[in-house]
Amino acid sequence: MLYRSLLFLLALSVSAPSAAALELVLPDTAFQGDMVVGRVVPPAKVWARSKALAVSENGYFVIGIPRDQKSDIVVLAKSGPARIKRTVRVLARNWQIERINGLPKKKVSPDKKTLKRIRADAARVTAVRTSAPSPAGWFLSSGFRLPLTGRISGVFGSQRILNKKPRSPHRGVDIAAPMGTPIVSPADGIVCLVARNMVLMGNTVMVDHGLGVRSIFIHLNRILVQNGDRVARGDLIGRVGQTGRATGPHLHWGVFVNAVAVDPMRVVKKQP
Ligand SMILES: [Zn+2]
Repeated sequence: MLYRSLLFLLALSVSAPSAAALELVLPDTAFQGDMVVGRVVPPAKVWARSKALAVSENGYFVIGIPRDQKSDIVVLAKSGPARIKRTVRVLARNWQIERINGLPKKKVSPDKKTLKRIRADAARVTAVRTSAPSPAGWFLSSGFRLPLTGRISGVFGSQRILNKKPRSPHRGVDIAAPMGTPIVSPADGIVCLVARNMVLMGNTVMVDHGLGVRSIFIHLNRILVQNGDRVARGDLIGRVGQTGRATGPHLHWGVFVNAVAVDPMRVVKKQP
């Protein structure tokens, strides 16, 4: 009997410290459209917005705050009997209204056949963007930089009105630069999509930076990588063009955290 209660006490003393030790490192606040890098110590399972996240072997994970997120983000970590909950308060931003006129009618109000192609293009990109995240956090060691320097001709989150027709918000940043300007990978990763001649996106590349973070590069004149290539931050991946729906040579750079589009300029500014 004494032996059994001793065992019970021993079990308590083993489980109690680990329950108390689980720690979530997160900012108290984040803006709409932010990419939030958090850490759980020791590494454990993590959920945010009720979805399981990829967690690196040293406990890092990433949360994308949607552009239109109104409520706070609840983050939960669990390891055996230990659990911890934290809340990130979401701060609102003001979004611009952007009017773009003079686009070819075919690309703003496409015919049936073109619409079918546009949907197939989108499905192809979405399939890669929403595929299972890699538990490796390649971008964590490299950080993010701009893929090129140039005039910002379109900001993230703006409500777009194309040829006077309201469209969905802009899910990336547009950087205008002369035709052929080199584009480099903004962070370490692996090329996960190479697609040519898409109706709206033209020649497109996507790079997987790990933990569900992916960059998309749209309207390229030339693609200089292949699917599966390992790229380091600063490696040449393509050249600026005007393929797809574009009014002039520029790069559209989008950053996604799983299915959530975040503001690339905030990703560059806020290094993990
Ligand atoms: Zn764009």
